[in-house]
Amino acid sequence: MKVLKFGGTSVGSAERMKAVADLIQDGEAKIVVLSAMSGTTNQLVQIAEKLYQNDNKEANALIDALHHTYKQVVDSLYTSEEKKKQAQELLLHHFDYLRSFTLDLFTIHEERAVLAQGELLSTALFQFFLEEQGIPSVLLPALNFMRIDENEEPDTDYISKNLKTELDKYPNAKLFITQGYICRNAFGEVDNLKRGGSDYSASLIGAAADASEIQIWTDINGMHNNDPRVVKNTFPIAELSFDEAAELAYFGAKILHPSSVLPAKQKNIPVRLLNTMQPEAQGTTISAQSGRGSIKAVAAKDGITAIKIKSGRMLLAYGFLRSVFEVFERYKTPIDMITTSEVAVSLTIDNPKFLSEITKELEEYGQVELDKDQTIICVVGDFIAERSGSGLKIFESLKDIPLRMISYGGSKNNISLLINTTDKERALVLLNEGIFERNTNNA
Ligand code: ASP
Ligand code: MG
Repeated sequence: MKVLKFGGTSVGSAERMKAVADLIQDGEAKIVVLSAMSGTTNQLVQIAEKLYQNDNKEANALIDALHHTYKQVVDSLYTSEEKKKQAQELLLHHFDYLRSFTLDLFTIHEERAVLAQGELLSTALFQFFLEEQGIPSVLLPALNFMRIDENEEPDTDYISKNLKTELDKYPNAKLFITQGYICRNAFGEVDNLKRGGSDYSASLIGAAADASEIQIWTDINGMHNNDPRVVKNTFPIAELSFDEAAELAYFGAKILHPSSVLPAKQKNIPVRLLNTMQPEAQGTTISAQSGRGSIKAVAAKDGITAIKIKSGRMLLAYGFLRSVFEVFERYKTPIDMITTSEVAVSLTIDNPKFLSEITKELEEYGQVELDKDQTIICVVGDFIAERSGSGLKIFESLKDIPLRMISYGGSKNNISLLINTTDKERALVLLNEGIFERNTNNA
C-alpha cells in the first residue's frame, strides 16, 4: 500500500484534478489524501472572521463568491449532465451549511466545521470524477479515523485501529480517497491538524497503514538546496535523511509540513516529494539513508525574536538555565536556538504571543535584551565532527554579514545562524555562491 498526498495546487482546478486522476491509475493499492483546492482554506478563514465579527452580509457575499467558483469547477470537471447535477447538489448542501452559520452564535467549534469544508468538497468532487470515468474507488471519511488527543497530538493507536476498520470494509478495493487536514479531537468534535496539515495526515495514514512509501505531490521538483524565491540556480536535492528533512522543513522549506517527518521516520517509510506538473522528475527521497555531500541545503526562517538574559548569578551557578526554561514552558512557547556564555544565555522564539509576560518573568533572573525581526539561517547536512572544513565555507561566505548567534553541535545535521532579517537575501545568495556554486565549478 502506498499513500499519495496531493496539495492544493495539485487539485486547484478541474484540469489539475484530471491530471491527478491520471497519476493514480497504475493498479497498485493506494490511499490518496487530498488538500482543499488552492485558496479555499484561506477563503474559509476569511468567512470565519466575518462570522466572528457578526458581519453576516460580508460573510454571505464571500460564501456566494466561493460557491460561484466551485460551480464553474463542476461545469468543467464533468461531462455528463447527470454528474454535473449530482455535483451541483453536493455544492448546494455544503454552501447552505456554510450559510447556516450566519444564523446563530459563532464560536471556535463552528469555525472548525467551516474550515473542514474545503477538504470535504475536494474529495467528494474528485470521487465523483473517478465515478464518472468508471475508475473504481472508495471515499474514506477521515473523520472516522483521524483523531487528536487532549494535547492536540495525534492519537496513533486510535488512528491505526479505526483506519484498519474502515479499510477492512472494502476487501476488494485498491483505490481509496480521503481528506487531509481534518480530524476529530478528544471530544469527538470536528477539528484539524493546523494549516498545511494535509502532509501530516498523509504521513500519519502511511504510518498507520504500514505503507511502503508516502508520496507528497506538490508543484515543485522536491526540496531545493536553497530558497528558489530568493536565489537563482537552486536545484532539487535527490536524497535526504529523515533528520535533515525535518530540520529543513522546520527551518523554512515550505514544501513539507515539519511534523510529517516523524511518523514516517518511526516506521522507516520513505517519503518522496514529487511534482504533479512534471511527474517524471526525480524529486526528493527522504529515508533513513542520507545522500552524499556534506552540506545539503540552506533554509531560512523569518519572524524570529532573540532574547538575551544576562546575569551575574549565572556565573558558576547551577539551576539557572532550568529557571529560564521553565518560564518558556509555562507559556508553552518553544525555543528554537540557544547559545550560552558564562554570564549570559541567548535564545530565540518564533511565537511572540506571550513575549511581554515572558520578558517580565525573565527580568527576575537578570537583565533582558530583545532583538526582533531576526532570521535563522539553517545549514543542513552531514556535519560529523571528524570531517573538517564545512564551518570554514559557511563563515567565509558570510564574512560581511553580522552574525547575532551561532549554533553548532546540537545535532550532526545542522548549523544555525541568527542574522537580521534585512540581511537574509544577501546571506542566502552568498551561501549559495560559497557552498554550492563553487562546488559545481570544482566538479
Ligand atoms: N487545506 C489546508 C490548508 O490550506 C491543509 C493543507 O492544504 O495542507 O492549510
Ligand atoms: Mg502544503
